[in-house]
Amino acid sequence: MAYDPDNIFAKILRGEANAHVVLDEEHCFAFMDLMPQSPGHTLIIPREPAENIFDLSDEGLAHLTATTRRVARAVKTALNPAGLMIAQLNGVDAGQTVFHIHFHVIPRYAGEGLTFHARTMADADELAANAARIRAALAP
Ligand code: 5GP
Repeated sequence: MAYDPDNIFAKILRGEANAHVVLDEEHCFAFMDLMPQSPGHTLIIPREPAENIFDLSDEGLAHLTATTRRVARAVKTALNPAGLMIAQLNGVDAGQTVFHIHFHVIPRYAGEGLTFHARTMADADELAANAARIRAALAP
C-alpha cells in the first residue's frame, strides 16, 4: 500500500489537524494520543513519510527510537507511572489503524489495566494538562 499523505498524522504534521503537542523538532514530532489506553499515552512520529517500520529509512528509525526514549523518560518524570510500555504496530493485522509509523509510549499505573486501543476519546483538559507536564519534563 502506498503512503497516504492525507492520513491524520500527516495532517497533524502539516498543522491541518490539532493535537496536544509535546515535542516539535527537525526529525520527529510527539503528541498526546486522543484515545489513550492510559493517562499520559503519547505518540512519537517521524516527519519522514513512512507507513511502517519497513518503509522508514535507517536514519529516520535512529532518530525515531532515540526520540521515543527521550519522550518516555519525560513521561516517567512527569507522571511517575509504576511502569511504562512502548509499542509499535505494523499492518492492519497487527492492529495498526493510522498508517504513518509511530511509537506508543503508554504509562502503566499500579493496579490499573489498559483501556481498549483507539476507542474512547479523552477529556481535552486532561490531555492538555498531561501534555504540559511532559513538555516541562522535556525542557532543557
Ligand atoms: P495504531 O493503531 O495505528 O498503532 O495507533 C494509532 C493511535 O492513534 C491510536 O492509539 C489512536 O487512539 C490514535 N489516534 C487516532 N486518531 C487520532 C487523532 O486524530 N489524534 C490523535 N492525537 N491520536 C489519534
